[in-house]
Amino acid sequence: MAGTGLFAEILDGEHVYKYYADGEWKKSTSGKTVAIINPTTRKTQYKVQACSQEEVNKVMDLAKTAQKLWAKTPLWKRAELLHKAAAILKEHKAPIAECLVKEIAKPAKDSVTEVVRSGDLVSYTAEEGVRILGEGKFLVSDSFPGNERTKYCLTSKIPLGVVLAIPPFNYPVNLAVSKIAPALIAGNSIVLKPPTQGAVSCLHMVHCFHLAGFPKGLINCVTGKGSEIGDFLTMHPGVNCISFTGGDTGIAISKKAGMIPLQMELGGKDACIVLEDADLDLVAANIIKGGFSYSGQRCTAVKVVLVMESVADSLVEKVKAKVAKLTVGPPEDDCDITPVVSESSANYIEGLVKDAKEKGATFCQEYKREGNLIWPLLLDNVRPDMRIAWEEPFGPVLPVLRINSVEEGIHHCNASNFGLQGCIFTKDINKAMLISDAMETGTVQINSAPARGPDHFPFQGIKDSGIGSQGITNSINMMTKIGNILLETP
Ligand code: NAP
Repeated sequence: MAGTGLFAEILDGEHVYKYYADGEWKKSTSGKTVAIINPTTRKTQYKVQACSQEEVNKVMDLAKTAQKLWAKTPLWKRAELLHKAAAILKEHKAPIAECLVKEIAKPAKDSVTEVVRSGDLVSYTAEEGVRILGEGKFLVSDSFPGNERTKYCLTSKIPLGVVLAIPPFNYPVNLAVSKIAPALIAGNSIVLKPPTQGAVSCLHMVHCFHLAGFPKGLINCVTGKGSEIGDFLTMHPGVNCISFTGGDTGIAISKKAGMIPLQMELGGKDACIVLEDADLDLVAANIIKGGFSYSGQRCTAVKVVLVMESVADSLVEKVKAKVAKLTVGPPEDDCDITPVVSESSANYIEGLVKDAKEKGATFCQEYKREGNLIWPLLLDNVRPDMRIAWEEPFGPVLPVLRINSVEEGIHHCNASNFGLQGCIFTKDINKAMLISDAMETGTVQINSAPARGPDHFPFQGIKDSGIGSQGITNSINMMTKIGNILLETP
C-alpha cells in the first residue's frame, strides 16, 4: 500500500508526504501543504509540502555539489545504480500504481503499465548511456586547409550540471523518469518538480531511487504548486538545463528561462486524416484507442478527425458503435472512461462542448457529466469556426470535420498552432508518404493512431508543441555538451 512498509518514511502523518533533499525525507519549514484532490471523489486524498524559496536554494546548492562528484563516477557504476532503481521500481509497482489511480484517476491496469514501462525506460537508458557516452571523436588538423598534421582533438560528451525536470500530471512517473534517467546516466544531478496531481506517485518513485543508493543530494524532489514555485525554479541561476513536459506553461517558461538548453514537450491537436480507400474498421478501432484512452488526456490523443465526406457517414457509424461499448466509471474498476483530472479541466471541456452545440455540431451521443466524469462524446459535422476544431480538450470529446479533398485536410492540420503528431489512413502508401511529408508535425503515423513510444523512438513537436527532441538517445544527448581536449605537437 502507498505510504506503508518501505515507503513509510516518506510520510509525515496521515496522508501528508515529505519532500526529498540531501538524501533525506523532509518536512518543509514553510509549515504549509498543498492538497491533492482525488478526481473521482473530489475530496482531498493526499497533501504534499509547499517548499519555500530557501529550500529551493538549498536544494540547488546540494545538487551542484553532488553533480561534481557524480560526473567523476565511472559510467558503469552510474548504469548499475540505474538498473537497481529500475528493479526496485518494478518490484513496487503496486503502491505507485495505487497513487496514480487516486491522484490522476488513471485506470488501474494502465497505472501498473505506466510504472513497469518506467522501470524498463530506466534500464534501457542505462544500457544506451554506457554505449553512447563511452564513445567520442578523434580529429586531426590536416583535413582543414592550411594546417599540418600537428593538432589533435579529442571530443567527448560531458554533463550540463543541474537538470530541472518538470513533468505533467498525465504520465507523472513515466515522464519524470524519462528526464531523470538520461540526466543521471550522463552525469548530471536532478531537481524534480512533480505535477501537483501526480506528486505522491512521483515521491514514491523517487524513493525507489533513494533505496537504490544514489549519492546524497544528487536527486532532489521539491513539491509545491507550479504557479507558486515554478518561476523561482525555472529562473534559478543554479539550473543548467530544463526538461519540461506540459501545456502552454512551457511557452512561458521558454521566454523566462536563461541561456540554458531547453527540452519542451508541449500540447498537441493531433489530426487523423482518413481517405476514401482506408480500412474503416481499422480507422474506427484506432480512433477509439487514440481518442479515448485515458479519457483523451494524452498529448498524442487523436484530437480531430478529418474524414473524406464520401466515407464519413460510414466511419461515424462505426465509431459510434464502439463508443457505446466504452465503460464509464471509477479508475479502481478499470473503466475505459474515468473522471478527468480536475473540476477546472471538466469545466473547460464543457465550455468547448457548449460552443460546438451553439454553433450546430451534431451530437452522436447525449452530453453527460457527473462531477469530473464526462461520458465519451463524438461530435460530427464540426466546422472550423468552432473552438473544438482547434483547441485541445484533454478529455473524452472528439470532433469530426468532414473534408472534400486531401488538401483541405492538410490545410486544417497545418493551420493549427500545434504540431505534435498526426496520422493518416489509406491503403495507398505513396499517397500516405506524400501527405505525411506535407503535414507540419513532429511525427506522422501511417495507418495507426498517434502515440509516444516505444520510449526509445525519437519524439518531438514543432510550433507550439515544443522544442528539442525526446526519446532515450536524444534525451541523453540533449543533457550533455561536447568537451574538447586539444594536443599540439611541436
Ligand atoms: P501544465 O499545466 O502545463 O503543467 C505541467 C507542469 O508544469 C506541472 O508539473 C505543473 O505543476 C508545472 N507548472 C505549472 N506552472 C508552472 C510554472 N509557472 N513554472 C514551472 N512549472 C509550472 O500541464 P498539465 O495540465 O500537467 O498537462 C497537460 C498538458 O501537457 C497538455 O497540454 C498535454 O498535451 C501536455 N503533454 C505533452 C506531452 C508531450 O510529450 N508533448 C506529454 C504529456 C502531456 P502543477 O501541477 O503544480 O501546476
